[in-house]
Amino acid sequence: MQKVDVGKKILSANERYALKNRQFLAEREKVCLNMISSPGSGKTTILSRTISDLKDKIKIGVIEGDIQTDLDAERIKATGAPAIQINTAGACHLSAAQIDTALRNLPVDDLDLIFIENVGNLVCPSAFELGETAKIVVLSVPEGDDKPAKYPAIFAKSKVLLINKIDLLGAGSHVDFDVERARADARRLNKSIEVFPISAKTGKGMHSWYNWLLESAEDILS
Ligand code: MG
Ligand code: ZN
Repeated sequence: MQKVDVGKKILSANERYALKNRQFLAEREKVCLNMISSPGSGKTTILSRTISDLKDKIKIGVIEGDIQTDLDAERIKATGAPAIQINTAGACHLSAAQIDTALRNLPVDDLDLIFIENVGNLVCPSAFELGETAKIVVLSVPEGDDKPAKYPAIFAKSKVLLINKIDLLGAGSHVDFDVERARADARRLNKSIEVFPISAKTGKGMHSWYNWLLESAEDILS
């Protein structure tokens, strides 16, 4: 008679690669942050500024996910940081197998921190674990402050919420965005989420994000 082990969870191919990536990163004591947002929230601009401003303190590499083009990897390389572009050829999220390949093509041993810039999509990437240390969700103010309430999964799973383009707010602005509403809705879903209102364009608020990044990298690496 055949015995069936019902207690053992069968991992999907994606989960197997995610586990492999997690082990690869843990063995080397590297932090890997999976950045997720809608298209146009400013992920690449945030990363470029972060890399440039922290270049004397921390070595950062980037895995860029886009449906087509290597435009974003070229923007990252212009800062001097190593970047690998993945084109998903239509898929609206990165897979852990793609990250496995990218990690083998990045100079990981020379880096402290690896960012994954996921394909612009607020829904689907939240369901695919990549083996990352943590997820970072980015919301820009023109998208509206109702996004945490409408797309709860990614806000529930992320360690940090970056509210970008706050330079567009203020008296006479055409953008209505209540930072406190977005913060409260995100906290309702995720009590421990850190929220940093920033402008990657002007630099406003970026120091708080940098402090979190440097402190958590240190915590994870030590
Ligand atoms: Mg981008
Ligand atoms: Zn997808």
